Amino acid sequence: MGYDSHRFGPGDGLVLGGVRIPCKMGFVAHSDGDVVLHAITDAILGAIGAGDIGELFPDNDDRWQGADSCLFIKRAVEIAAEKGYRLGNADITIIIETPKLGEFKAEIKQKIAEILETDPDNVNIKAKTNERMGAIGRCEGIAVMASVLMTK
Ligand code: MG
Repeated sequence: MGYDSHRFGPGDGLVLGGVRIPCKMGFVAHSDGDVVLHAITDAILGAIGAGDIGELFPDNDDRWQGADSCLFIKRAVEIAAEKGYRLGNADITIIIETPKLGEFKAEIKQKIAEILETDPDNVNIKAKTNERMGAIGRCEGIAVMASVLMTK
């Protein structure tokens, strides 16, 4: 299981699961801020006992400034392969008040399947609001939970 959250700032779009979502917000983040890929990366690393994304890619390391998060997740998949594991399936829950992600879910699913080199049937995307409660409800940021099954 992996979890990540990011704060919103002014901007012209969010990258979620490798897909650009046009809106009037951006991420306040060290990398490209793709919170979906970060949560999946942590889920993979956790499942294979390989620590977390912060150990592999410290946010005080300039090499990862504005980095494409595909790099992080692909490294996690590589470490998994070295340990003899491959992805079974991934289930992702994105919690965001606005914009609504319904029309982007299919594209995000497709893109994540491409990145993970798996069949789209092995990837599930769920999107929900926080019912206007708390920081996410006030549109201050976003949270993502990801579960993955890794098979030996
Ligand atoms: Mg992150």
